[in-house]
Order: sequence, then C-alpha cells, then structure tokens
Amino acid sequence: MRKIKVKTPIVEMDGDEMTRIMWKMVKEKLLCPFLDIDVDYYDLHIENRDRTDDQVTVDAGRAIMKYGVGIKCATITPNQDRVVEYGLKQMWKSPNGTIRAMLDGTVFRKPILVSNIKPFVACWEKPITIGRHAYGDVYDNREIRVPGAGRAELVFTPEDGGAPLKMTIKDFKGPGIVQGLHNTDDSIRSFARACFRLALDEKTDLWFSTKDTISKTYDAHFRDMFAREYNESWKEKFEAAGIEYFFTLIDDAVARIMRSRGGILWALKNYDGDVMSDMVASACGSLAMMTSVLVSPRGWYEYEAAHGTVQKHYYRHLKGEETSTNSMALIFAWSGGLRKRGEIDGTPEVAAFAGKLEKAAIGVVESGIMTGDLLAIAEADPRNRKVNTEAFIDAIADRLKELTTGNG
Ligand code: NAP
Ligand code: MG
Repeated sequence: MRKIKVKTPIVEMDGDEMTRIMWKMVKEKLLCPFLDIDVDYYDLHIENRDRTDDQVTVDAGRAIMKYGVGIKCATITPNQDRVVEYGLKQMWKSPNGTIRAMLDGTVFRKPILVSNIKPFVACWEKPITIGRHAYGDVYDNREIRVPGAGRAELVFTPEDGGAPLKMTIKDFKGPGIVQGLHNTDDSIRSFARACFRLALDEKTDLWFSTKDTISKTYDAHFRDMFAREYNESWKEKFEAAGIEYFFTLIDDAVARIMRSRGGILWALKNYDGDVMSDMVASACGSLAMMTSVLVSPRGWYEYEAAHGTVQKHYYRHLKGEETSTNSMALIFAWSGGLRKRGEIDGTPEVAAFAGKLEKAAIGVVESGIMTGDLLAIAEADPRNRKVNTEAFIDAIADRLKELTTGNG
C-alpha cells in the first residue's frame, strides 16, 4: 500500500501514564502504516520534563510556533504526590499552561458524537463547541473579607501621573466581602480573533454572550470589542462563507442553546466557559469523547484530548490487569492536527485520511464495539460488547484498512 506523504513535520508531544500507552498504539496501528510522516518529537513524560528542567516543554512550544501544528498527549501536572512518586526536583508547572502562555491561545472543546450514544439533550443533533476565554476575571481576582463597617473603594492610578479614577464600591455597615476583577484589551482581542478564526475554519455560526445588561462597562466592553473586531476584519468573510455572528445576553443564549440543534461555536467569558463546557461534556456522555484545540490568533494550533492521563487505569495496567480505556479523543487529536496540516500544506489527501480515520473510529463504536465507559451510556443493542484498550484500536485499524484500500 502506498503511504500518504505529510509534507511538513508535525510537532508531536508525548505524555504520561495510560495515555502514553495508547499514544504508542495509535501511532503504530493507525498512523505509521498509512502515512509517510516526519515528526518533530518532544517527550513531555514527567521524568523528561524533570531531567530537562522543563526546557522540553518550552522547546515544544517553540516548535509549534515554527511549524504551526502540534499534537499533544495528556501529561501529568505535578502536585505534591507526584513530586514524591517520581522524585521530582520541583513541582513543575502544567505543560498546557506553559504552552498556552507561549501561543496566546483560546481553548475550544468539542464533543465527538456517535449515533448510538444520544446526548441527554435530545435536540442536539450536531456538536456544540465551547470557546472559553482563558484569561482574567474571577481566575485572577483579588478578594478581601471585610471585617466590619467601613468604605470599599475602586481606585485606578495612571502611570503618567494623571488624576486617579476613584469610585465607592460600598459603604459597609458591618462585615462582608469584596472582590476585584480585571481583563485587558489585548487578551479580549486575542480571544475574539481566535473565535472568529475557528468559526470560519469550521464554517459554523459563532455565538457570543455576556451579562452586558447588568455589567454595563465590563461585560459590555467584551461585547463591543467583539463587534468591532467582527465589523473590521471578519464580516465579509463570514458572509461569503454563509455563516453568522450573533451576540446575545447570556441568559438568552442558555435558553436558546437548550432548544438548538447544535452545530454552534459558543464563545464565553472565562467563568461562563468553565461551567458551560462541563455542562456540554456531561450532556454528551464521556470525558473520553471530548476533543480540545488551542487556537492562537497568530495561526498556530495545538490539538489534544480534553481528559487527563487516566491514572487509575494505568495503575491497573501496571499490575498486569486488563484495561478498557477509550482512545477516541486521542485519535481525534491526531485527525484534527492532520486535517489542519493538510489544509495549511495544500495536501487534500492528508485531510482526506484524517476524515477516514475519524470515520473508522466512529464506525467501530456505532457497530457496537466499545470501551467500558461507552458501553455504560450506549443505547442497548445485542451487538454491543466491551473490548480492551488494544482490541478497540485494532478494530479501528481493521476498518481504516477497508476504508483506505476499498474506496480510497
Ligand atoms: P483523567 O485522567 O481525566 O481521568 C479521570 C477519570 O475519567 C478516569 O479515572 C476515568 O474514570 C475517566 N476517564 C478519563 N479519560 C478516560 C478514557 N480515555 N477512557 C476511559 N475513561 C476515562 O483525570 P485524573 O485521573 O484526575 O488525572 C490524571 C492525571 O492527568 C493528573 O496527573 C492530571 O494532572 C492530569 N491531567 C492532564 C490533562 C492534560 O494533559 N490535558 C488534563 C487533565 C488532567 P473511571 O476511573 O471511572 O474509569
Ligand atoms: Mg469546569
């Protein structure tokens, strides 16, 4: 069989625990037999991050900036237990956080839908992608427990020595609480651009919602910056692609989403995105069916699974017990990255392979062959059976061979 040539190197970031085991299988069984692919490989295994003083993570981020597309396996974010478990020099930062800070990106999460697992919201026919602003607001706040009566004030002191801006928040008559939030125009603009870019790439409508009726300066500023960005840089492209940008109050958006058919990119402020992405994920069934892509306003992309390293399954695997861990989101990280690589390189055969890989994976689940997490939520069918981690990937490989040789 002739292998499909991937023109530009793909930045590959290997990871930890059960996802590292599956990553190797996916490469050996689903990619290498079909693709002539040059990878720029970075091993983000926790021990290698420790050995290199986390330089390997920074190098991986730089490589994504060089080549444009990276695909990442799940990695351990060390806590105290991990420092002891692996004898680490220090509690290294989350690789995702490091890479996100380098690429200045927005994270988009999208569920993988299969016909035999119905979303709990029956009208959702197409996936709902959440675009979450990952900067500022309540995640970078300052809070004070007010001990008793007194005045809380908001003060901004200009660097140039101009007159301070000052406002009373509350004249407290007794104890209470007070909080300060911020955001920056640079970050909001990046967020807006990443959302407009992805909506255009995927040809889906974009919704954005804030509480602008109540927060007439803060949330309204997000609304206005999105509107300006849209009118200046995206309106014509959206109209040409036949897609829509739509702003509405968050309450209204929530009500509409619950009655929509899906197929929407929903952009949300940091807190709203945190909460709503968990709602969409749980309505769609399993963490292992959620993909994640970091889109930078500079046109760099990093694909990964939304779940972690599946530590519990890994410990079972180490004990020699059989596991039934779901590789769907890892496979879709590869297909998403390959499709994007093919688009950027102008190699439609690579993008077509990505489509076949997804079709094979979805086809296997729809034929009733599934891992334990899916069996628990799939519609009852006598064909359904639970298979182990490797058998699931083997079944996808068989189907992929049929798709690539049969009508390929
Ligand atoms: P997790 O790896 O997402 O797993 C949590 C649970 O979700 C699993 O125990 C399993 O439930 C289920 N699950 C997740 N993915 C699955 C899959 N592919 N197939 C089947 N079941 C799946 O979260 P965690 O155990 O809390 O975290 C483990 C490590 O991952 C941590 O060190 C954390 O730092 C890291 N992490 C990394 C990333 C990332 O790199 N993007 C993201 C999150 C967490 P059952 O046990 O009930 O089967
Ligand atoms: Mg959350």
